[in-house]
Amino acid sequence: MWKVPLSDVIIAEDEIADVTAVFRSGWLTMGPRTEELEQTFAQYTGVRHAVALSSATAGLHLSCLACELGPGDEVIVPSLTFVATVNAVRYAGATPVFADIKSLDEPWLTAESISQHVTSKTKAVIPVHYGGHCGDIARIRELCEGRDILLIEDAAHATGSRYRGQHLGTFGEVGVFSFFSNKNLSVGEGGIAVTSDDEIAKKLRLLRSHGMTSPTWDRHKGHAFDYDVIGLGFNYRIDETRAALASRRLQKLDGENQHRAVLVGRYREELKDLPLTIPMDDVPTLTNAHHIFTIVLEEGVDRNGFRTAMRERGIQTSLHYPPVHRFSAYADYDIALPITEEYSKRSVTLPLFGHMSENAQRQVVTAVQETFAEVLPKIMN
Ligand SMILES: *Cc1c(COP(=O)(O)O)cnc(C)c1O
Repeated sequence: MWKVPLSDVIIAEDEIADVTAVFRSGWLTMGPRTEELEQTFAQYTGVRHAVALSSATAGLHLSCLACELGPGDEVIVPSLTFVATVNAVRYAGATPVFADIKSLDEPWLTAESISQHVTSKTKAVIPVHYGGHCGDIARIRELCEGRDILLIEDAAHATGSRYRGQHLGTFGEVGVFSFFSNKNLSVGEGGIAVTSDDEIAKKLRLLRSHGMTSPTWDRHKGHAFDYDVIGLGFNYRIDETRAALASRRLQKLDGENQHRAVLVGRYREELKDLPLTIPMDDVPTLTNAHHIFTIVLEEGVDRNGFRTAMRERGIQTSLHYPPVHRFSAYADYDIALPITEEYSKRSVTLPLFGHMSENAQRQVVTAVQETFAEVLPKIMN
């Protein structure tokens, strides 16, 4: 239906073979393939523990619980994020406190914007690595260390992002990655939490599976005869097929992310003379996963008109994101976050994915150029 979709996934034959092998093995959930994924991912990100889960949302929820956030605790979050970041805080009974982003060029929380909201009740911060970018993570970490605030990273966009050689998601107590179908490493549904804190890892493992002291696989292997339930846990397990798929696709991720970087470089070059802002400048010490490519239209430009013209040319666009504090479910928050609101009003996400061809990108660029040259002047008069 789209000439160029916003994002696209190809599951290769070797990946399908891995999944088939899982079905043939007869062991379908939380077994050797999950262990393999956890070991590989821990190594890949450079941490002691990785805990594979049913989703990043589950990972954020369990991270809040493992950090013992609860009623009375305030957790500083962006509003420019997917709602799951903020919901996770509420699942734990804690109170989300929204901070504004830095600017239209740098759409993320900074140490300064966070500081403005720190009170005696602030127990944690959950920054989002928007688009895979490191943002202000080094200074946020300093702030957290200096003020005894826990740092949980929403690294759903940042699988493969490294800042000064250190993988994003490993700067705080715990970091969470998503394997959802439009993410850089996609398997359908799934996620993983990483930490080098043994206690947090232990809690994540317990809570992921009903608070049970021994997983079924351990009992199957004869390592354990029975189990106790020592907390109020959940069923947030991943299954073996998705774990197998994630392990195999992880091997290809850096290559795909490099291709994304080439595409982003070309977008920047081709669009640089148009009256729009391209946020998220490259940082020499950042290897960016480039989860999304967004542009920010000038004030007063008809964004719906822009998106309609793109759609008519077969190009899918999206919005990242409508601000969470403006959703009906968050109507209690009668606050203003001027930069977040401005960015949300004026930004548009263009197609970008790991195997996007030069030809597909050319079609997107041409559609943007035509829209600026022919469509916008008409609808804006
Ligand atoms: C996708 C996403 C999530 C949730 O991930 P799931 O695996 O779908 O639960 C959380 N935060 C951000 C910023 C995301 O983009």
